Amino acid sequence: MSESMKGKIAAITGAASGIGLECARTLIAEGAKVVLVDRARENLDKRCAELGANALPLVVDLLQPAEVAALLPKILELAGGLDVFHANAGAYVGGEVAEGDPDVWDRVLNLNVNAAFRSVRAVIPHMVAQKSGDIVFTSSIAGIVPVVWEPIYTASKFAVQAFVHTTRRQLAKHGVRVGAVCPGPVVTALLDDWPKAKMDEALASGSLMQPKEVADAVLFMLTRPRGVTIRDIVILPNNVDL
Ligand code: NAD
Repeated sequence: MSESMKGKIAAITGAASGIGLECARTLIAEGAKVVLVDRARENLDKRCAELGANALPLVVDLLQPAEVAALLPKILELAGGLDVFHANAGAYVGGEVAEGDPDVWDRVLNLNVNAAFRSVRAVIPHMVAQKSGDIVFTSSIAGIVPVVWEPIYTASKFAVQAFVHTTRRQLAKHGVRVGAVCPGPVVTALLDDWPKAKMDEALASGSLMQPKEVADAVLFMLTRPRGVTIRDIVILPNNVDL
């Protein structure tokens, strides 16, 4: 039997914007309570006010290891439990390696890789103790195929895929499922960095999709019967050449 989200408690990182926000909206509509984790306090408060009483804001800078280490007790204090943890927050950098700024790379790699792994580490003991739970990553098509115009971002998402595939096998025996949603280009603030010509071309050709498509894929993963894991879902707009 498929699972219901009614009464479930989820926490989503990077939930004040884009894919994370849409996932929060979708899970709340299905009856879940969601802790929206983000560092953008103003945006977070505004979004939670729109989403209603089942949206609980939690301001955390995921680049601060001490704040990430304190994530679980704060979620439990706010929401009273944790069934689903969605490591979604991420940043983007594209361009030629020869012209890149390694300090920018460090920030992207720290958020997409180190902070995501730390945040999952922080919640695993709770899920293992309750012998149940779901951990979902927002990975990317760039974690599946090397995307030539974004080497550093691609490397970060390959690292995410490696972590998902290994951690999933470590946690399966504890009743905890681990999976990844791997979208192609989605219209969010993350793509503000794209060159204008590339964005115009993508919009005109229909090679971008909306965050709701990703949120529905995540809902599908979470609502499978407990004995089934959706390891990863690749979801692309039809006209993307990847
Ligand atoms: P977005 O920029 O709309 O949202 C990212 C959110 O993360 C923002 O609310 C931001 O405040 C938050 N954030 C950034 N740094 C943070 C930090 N240090 N601590 C806490 N919060 C922080 O981006 P999005 O497109 O919704 O991206 C979400 C995820 O989706 C990322 O992992 C991204 O790699 C992935 N993704 C995006 C696309 C796309 O085309 N937009 C495609 C595939 C995968």
